Amino acid sequence: MRSSAKHGAADNNRGLSGHVLTLHQRLYHALNLGTWVNRKKWHCTDIETQRLVLRSVDAYLECISSETLQYPLVKDSVVDMVRALESILEFKNQSILRLASSVAVKMVKVLPGSILLQNRGLDLICPIVDLLSSHQLQVAMSCATAMNVILPKLSSRREREVWQILKETKAVGYLVHNIKQLSIVNIQIEYFQEMASLLSRILLWWPSFRFCVWNDSNFLNCLDAIKLISESSVKVVVLQLYSSLALCGNGAQKLLENGEALVQMTVSCMDSSNSHSVRMEAFKLARCLALSRRGCIQMMNICCEPLVKAVTGAMKYSNTLSEKLDKNQLSVTEEACRLASITRWPGNHHIYFWKAGTDRLLLDLLLDYPKIHQLQRELSVNDLINIVRESQNSNLLFSFRPYLWDILGGLAANCEENISHEIHENELQLRVLIVCACLSFVDSMGTLRQVSQNGVTNMTECESACRAVLMMVYSPCKYIASLARSILYEILKADGKDYVEYLLKILNAVLTGAKFGLPGNLQIVVSLMSLACYCSLPTYQELIIKFQGMKIMVAFVMWWLSNPVHLKRESTVPHLRDSFSERSCCYPSTEEWEGEDMLLLFSLWIVSELLHHSAYNKKANSSDNHEDFPRSQLIQELQEICRDRNSHGSRWYAAYVLSYFGIFGFPSKLGKRIGKLLGEREHSDMKLHFVNEESVYVHEVILTVRCPSLLPPGESVPKQKSSGVKSDVGRNIVKAVHLSAHVDQPSLLKLLEYVYSGYLQASKDLVKKLKLFARHCKLESLMQVLCRKNPKWGVDVPSFDLSPALGPAGHNLSNLILEAGSTTQLVHWNCNSCSALVPHLHVHKVILLSSCDYLRALFQSGMQESNLQTIKVPVSWESLNKLVRWFYSDRLPVPIFDCVWANLEPEEKFRQVHTYLELCWLAEFWLIDDLYEECYEVVISCIDSSQNLSTKIIQIAANFSQWKLAQVAANHMAPSYHQLRISGELDQLDDNLVEMVRAASVRLSQEGGGGGGITLVDWLCY
Ligand SMILES: [Zn+2]
Ligand SMILES: [Zn+2]
Repeated sequence: MRSSAKHGAADNNRGLSGHVLTLHQRLYHALNLGTWVNRKKWHCTDIETQRLVLRSVDAYLECISSETLQYPLVKDSVVDMVRALESILEFKNQSILRLASSVAVKMVKVLPGSILLQNRGLDLICPIVDLLSSHQLQVAMSCATAMNVILPKLSSRREREVWQILKETKAVGYLVHNIKQLSIVNIQIEYFQEMASLLSRILLWWPSFRFCVWNDSNFLNCLDAIKLISESSVKVVVLQLYSSLALCGNGAQKLLENGEALVQMTVSCMDSSNSHSVRMEAFKLARCLALSRRGCIQMMNICCEPLVKAVTGAMKYSNTLSEKLDKNQLSVTEEACRLASITRWPGNHHIYFWKAGTDRLLLDLLLDYPKIHQLQRELSVNDLINIVRESQNSNLLFSFRPYLWDILGGLAANCEENISHEIHENELQLRVLIVCACLSFVDSMGTLRQVSQNGVTNMTECESACRAVLMMVYSPCKYIASLARSILYEILKADGKDYVEYLLKILNAVLTGAKFGLPGNLQIVVSLMSLACYCSLPTYQELIIKFQGMKIMVAFVMWWLSNPVHLKRESTVPHLRDSFSERSCCYPSTEEWEGEDMLLLFSLWIVSELLHHSAYNKKANSSDNHEDFPRSQLIQELQEICRDRNSHGSRWYAAYVLSYFGIFGFPSKLGKRIGKLLGEREHSDMKLHFVNEESVYVHEVILTVRCPSLLPPGESVPKQKSSGVKSDVGRNIVKAVHLSAHVDQPSLLKLLEYVYSGYLQASKDLVKKLKLFARHCKLESLMQVLCRKNPKWGVDVPSFDLSPALGPAGHNLSNLILEAGSTTQLVHWNCNSCSALVPHLHVHKVILLSSCDYLRALFQSGMQESNLQTIKVPVSWESLNKLVRWFYSDRLPVPIFDCVWANLEPEEKFRQVHTYLELCWLAEFWLIDDLYEECYEVVISCIDSSQNLSTKIIQIAANFSQWKLAQVAANHMAPSYHQLRISGELDQLDDNLVEMVRAASVRLSQEGGGGGGITLVDWLCY
């Protein structure tokens, strides 16, 4: 190979200067003093020779350029040079390491990425990273520098290999160590910079390294001290390092735990007195910390006003400067705008955004019209439209606009109901702003059409402008909503009607599967949002209904339910994605109100508005009772949506739509089970007597948690009111409560329906009385649905949760003790209300039996067990707690497979899986299907999450007779059956399980799947 290269050398290398040739000659003269092993590895133990090679490499690097690299002679020598350097670095002779590492820096700087990161280049990474642990500061620093040069040249295809190297060489550990060693008094700034920026680069790219860094309190303390150094260059790296830690949701939490100093430092770094790069990094860090709703709220609790001031300060943009656009200024403004979209999270920061005149700032960024404040208040919408149209065109900040709409939308969605002083002051500005948004919205209709015609996709601004208008026309702030609606109405006058027909056509096309242009997901989202905007105007509601909109939208909801398309907003619109935040980890995906089912949310939104319209216009055309959608099926599906794990947004809207069918509240799984108890005589402990001698059986514990105002006044049930304690079923004591004549019987019964099941069904007449009753009983969420208030963006669905009964409130009412079967690991146990030493929980029979047929049968059997005060549950204490939690809230605490999970010791992971396997077994025994399914899913995802758990899980699953799960584990082990058998890991298993794994691996090989199937050797060995 080498000879053939030399063959044509004479021709190909013509043109190389004599100087290059001399250096080349000198290099090979030195290299030839060592030996080549298989021509692949250079080898030499003599220090002087190594030094000579390094010097000649150093000299030779001078002549390497993209030009000289065209010559085969030079190109070939690069390979040899890299190999020699690699060998010398690996040799680790202390006396020449300094020289060697500085040559390495030079080499990685000179060589282009394409050459550097072929296989040989990766080989060079190994010894360089390894030397980060060098005691010679200069050597470690050079190696960090070299890595800082190499990593940006890395292509994404190579990321995994480099990750492997970094993991094996424990690079992150050494970097952390090196930084911790620094003395703050006499810090070597350059050293810190190289180490810290390499660390933050690694953490940014490879999330798996983050945990061990943010979990190291000493390291965080050290950073805390370093962040006080005022040197601008230090600040930049410190901020970068914090950002890459905060990209992990758990890391951000850790940083914010005692984060006053950090947040204050970040805010002060945003100030214009800092250098451009410091400001940029400060905004980025704040954005990371506010990636979650919780993080944003925590940050705002620390310093709300100063933060908002810093952000809005950086958003200030003066149009007069636009002629000589300052690039730095622009990039800071853009970062500030990105951060400002924290207006999407609820919190107390909105008022400061209004106070800081955000509406004015947005206008300055949107329009190239410096004299907004000189406009006259009396201008008509049409005049404003003209002004906006004229001044919009010359604006250069096009890429900003999606952020601006997001900020505006967030402000409108989270506004208080009543007009705040700040908004009212600047009515004109707000009007112009709304005109801008509405115009963009209408333009987006045009874009939508173009997209379907030419397949061009530049929909980002469409989406965000549409969303902003949607948030404004449905804003909880009446002032903004009515202003936005009236402006939208004016603007749509021209061709609104046309568009409605078109939008319905797009959605219909989705349903029929017809190839109608390109109804991509983003296009569907925009169509739905636009239609929802139209629905805010009565004229268009009518029009949509005329075009069979109701039928189409109900069909759309049904279509989605049978083909659920899960979409996250971040993944559909480009402006929310960047290489930076895309690398975040451990952030909950369920926090956003729209979640991943925004198609469902927006279609329900439209349905609700159309129903609203027909409900109000029914009197006008009452003869037309014909409905063109399957009513009962829809009602059923809507209840399912409420019960299922959909986002809060779609559940709210499903409940809202249900209110138009006379169903008020929030159906839930637990509510469905508890609901059956109402009026049941057995196990009830209270009887409500109406004046007309009728009565209803209830349960004090449920009333205590769900609606305490229904209980007679005084602590629990006062004795003088219960007109006689009668002995009823078995040993149950039933307290009788006589209701006064003022209590309306049907209303109370309905209200109890809500208390027990989370929702109620009521006719129009009853609703009026119920409103009074609900207000009296302080059932806010029921009030809201009874009054049919629009769901407020961002508000969680009220959960049906009986857990408070486990606290002091329900303690006196407890009539059963659950004891854990196995009580290992509990040293300090004491109960607040009794002196029993065995770990136990005080619970309520009635709640347990509503979800568990086994216990119901047990309690009702009339046998000895039915009067038991204590039941020993044959599971661990941990499992028992999860079980009870599930009984009371229908929520099983489940492991989250994040960084923390990934870094758990295998034993700890296994201990957790063990709980769920145990619960699977118990759920089967006690006949609790729902719980069984949930636990089963958890075990499956645990098996998927870590390969090496299977060997242990299979045995425990078998011990609990969970054969289905054992089989899943066996299938997971199948590809590595051979290795497992050799390593002896299978020896611990029962024979039938080993056979199970073997059979699975045979099946695998027969199916031809999995590279690690059984080989001939396996067969022979067996
Ligand atoms: Zn993480
Ligand atoms: Zn106790």
